[in-house]
Amino acid sequence: MLGAALREQVCQANRELPTLGLVTLTWGNVSGFDSDQGWVAIKPSGVPYGELRPADIVLLDLEGRVLDGELRPSTDTPAHLVLYRAWGGATEKVGGICHTHSELATAFAQARMELPCFGTTHADHFDGPVPLTRQLRPEEVASGYEAATGQVLVERFAGSPAMSPRRIPAALVPGHGPFTWGADAAAALNHAVALEAVAKIAHAQLALGRAIELEEFLRAKHQQRKHGRDAYYGQIR
Ligand SMILES: [Zn+2]
Repeated sequence: MLGAALREQVCQANRELPTLGLVTLTWGNVSGFDSDQGWVAIKPSGVPYGELRPADIVLLDLEGRVLDGELRPSTDTPAHLVLYRAWGGATEKVGGICHTHSELATAFAQARMELPCFGTTHADHFDGPVPLTRQLRPEEVASGYEAATGQVLVERFAGSPAMSPRRIPAALVPGHGPFTWGADAAAALNHAVALEAVAKIAHAQLALGRAIELEEFLRAKHQQRKHGRDAYYGQIR
């Protein structure tokens, strides 16, 4: 099977979506990207997660041509391809993307609110507020909708080092929901779990009527100890 290792990883990540409480029905997909080969592996459209086998995962090139697989790829594939074309290189090294309609993150997207960095839990995963993209224009929705969704995500991060997709591996599309990404499919999935958890906490905090954002020095400390040059979170490998 062409791209067997990549397809197995992507299959596993997709199978975990419902187990982790991130999806209802088939509202979500995970993909993976092998930058050496230029291969994208993605969930097939409409197949229940529990039935997915690695051979069902569709293997494509960056232009969306199917290289291997019998099934139709996810309808969201063009969005994933736009993101890999923009961020799959040596600078951002994005090798996995996860899109869900997880409840609380989607509520923020529907409320057209970015997700503020309220606490250290958030800062451990996202180095600042999780941004909201601009809304798509009617003509973008009418033609090339899914690719335009990828494009507004790329646009949101363009031109500001503070907004690097490596530092903030998530964004919300207004009226739609969250996208997360990471070094591979498992990392993208992990960020989707973290995003939903911090959205849940933020929602509870907003219900308490205290929209207090985390102090800058604490945010910086939490990012640096987990992701910085001298990171000391976790075990030394
Ligand atoms: Zn969606």
